[in-house]
Amino acid sequence: MKVGVLALQGDVTEHATVLAGLGAHPVEVRDPADLAGVDALVLPGGESTTMSLLLESSGLHSAVAARLDEGMPAFGTCAGMILLGSEVLDGRRDQRCFGAIDVSVRRNAFGRQLQSFEADLDVAGLEGGPMRAVFIRAPVVERVGEGVEVLASTAVGEVERPVVCRSGPVLVAAFHPELAGDPRLHQLFLSKL
Ligand code: GLN
Repeated sequence: MKVGVLALQGDVTEHATVLAGLGAHPVEVRDPADLAGVDALVLPGGESTTMSLLLESSGLHSAVAARLDEGMPAFGTCAGMILLGSEVLDGRRDQRCFGAIDVSVRRNAFGRQLQSFEADLDVAGLEGGPMRAVFIRAPVVERVGEGVEVLASTAVGEVERPVVCRSGPVLVAAFHPELAGDPRLHQLFLSKL
């Protein structure tokens, strides 16, 4: 199974390491030719505004959009979740997203870098107890559309907000599952391929 990792910016190596540990064959995707050979795509954390610009300049935006339209499975973490969503509530004006999962996402929902934190999160469908989740300038989901399953939520101030969602072949997480040494969310993604 060849699993692409969008390698324009962000924590690419960490995702590739987790995928390889689970027996998948990670492929760094930098241009449309790289994308053509993969069965699925991971969109890592990083900075969604920068990634959006690099997606355009590399010619990957339309190539990824076309594969997503055809049903390519995708897993987006943090900035990757922002890119896969259907609406960015406080994005930059020139920022584009793929609309592969019908969620409205708010960037930097917990505040600035200093408000980054870790939490133990119950994720529906994961056996073996809560998962350690590293939130770094993390987004949250403020609206889920029809057919979107919420697998985990966390409190943002007084309100519980979804932080892991799935819709068909698309899985998104607001945090960094590749940084905490727990491969279960990647495993859940691979198990559906
Ligand atoms: N705040 C970043 C953004 O808007 C995401 C942070 C991350 O991926 N760790 O893209």
